[in-house]
Amino acid sequence: MKPAPFAYYRPATLEDAAARLADGADEGAMILAGGQSLVPMMALRVAYPSELIDLNTVPGLDTPRVEGNTLVIPALVRHATFHTPDPAFGPTGDLMASVVRHIAHHPIRQRGTFCGSLAHADPSSEWALTATTLGAELELLSVRGTRRIPIADWIDGAMSTTREPDEILTAAHLPLIPPGSLSGFYEVSRRAGDFALGMALVVLGMDGDRIGEASIGLGGIEEIPRRIPEAEAALQGQPATPESFATAAQAAMDAVDPMSDATTPASYRRDLAGTVIRRALAQAATRLPAPV
Ligand SMILES: Cc1cc2nc3c(=O)[nH]c(=O)nc-3n(C[C@H](O)[C@H](O)[C@H](O)COP(=O)(O)OP(=O)(O)OC[C@H]3O[C@@H](n4cnc5c(N)ncnc54)[C@H](O)[C@@H]3O)c2cc1C
Repeated sequence: MKPAPFAYYRPATLEDAAARLADGADEGAMILAGGQSLVPMMALRVAYPSELIDLNTVPGLDTPRVEGNTLVIPALVRHATFHTPDPAFGPTGDLMASVVRHIAHHPIRQRGTFCGSLAHADPSSEWALTATTLGAELELLSVRGTRRIPIADWIDGAMSTTREPDEILTAAHLPLIPPGSLSGFYEVSRRAGDFALGMALVVLGMDGDRIGEASIGLGGIEEIPRRIPEAEAALQGQPATPESFATAAQAAMDAVDPMSDATTPASYRRDLAGTVIRRALAQAATRLPAPV
């Protein structure tokens, strides 16, 4: 199938893009970033924008930077930017390098963008899980001004966000993982490059040989990637051992309300929630210093 006819606009600045989007949003104008979700959807006529406003002509949006304790990821930073960890990003860069290879395939990662993934809000988006677990804030621009919202107030359903039709997601602000924390990621998908059936991302702040603060996020299990407070509480003050990890995994399995589809029943995803959390925690624990 071919896309329905659409107009195409190449803005020079973000303000230009926002003005054009404000004019056309009611008729169905949309932002184009990497095009790796939107273009296939247009070809299938699941999406039929009246106009594409192509951010790729706006300079200065393709490089992440560290500001204080935050990694700022502007709208055109491609997935592939994170293939090789930038030392300036510290442990966050290492974690993102281990996450990014699970996103689609190499050519798709050269074009697809971090912010595009957050805007698309697939339940199995690796970046949505990363942003959620690390507690990102998102920066939005429209002709009405700018606003920032926490990621927890952004995704409100599968492929659905609280973005107003005239708003552009200009950047994600990701708190850097503090030095000394342990992190791990684990994903299960049927074939390499497929969307995940389930995945977990964990960050553990250690207090001596005990776990201090834990952030445990699950993606692909429920409609919205989210942190699981029950699993986090189960780990607090515990040693990083297979036993405490199993307890946290069970707490998550009891807490989730998994999706169900024709090939993957909710009961499978509930089990998977426990498995991916245990394995992400085990991966984090491999970074513990060896006992003396
Ligand atoms: C075969 C295949 C496999 C894939 N596998 C995975 C996977 O395993 N994991 C995964 O996470 N993704 C996967 N993807 C999707 C891919 O990661 C996309 O790149 C991503 O979902 C969207 O980013 P994009 O920059 O391509 O956005 P686009 O396709 O350009 O846009 C997607 C949507 O977001 C909106 N949008 C984009 N940027 C902005 C912005 N800055 N402000 C406001 N709205 C915006 C667009 O209007 C559109 O509605 C896969 C894609 C394909 C084709």
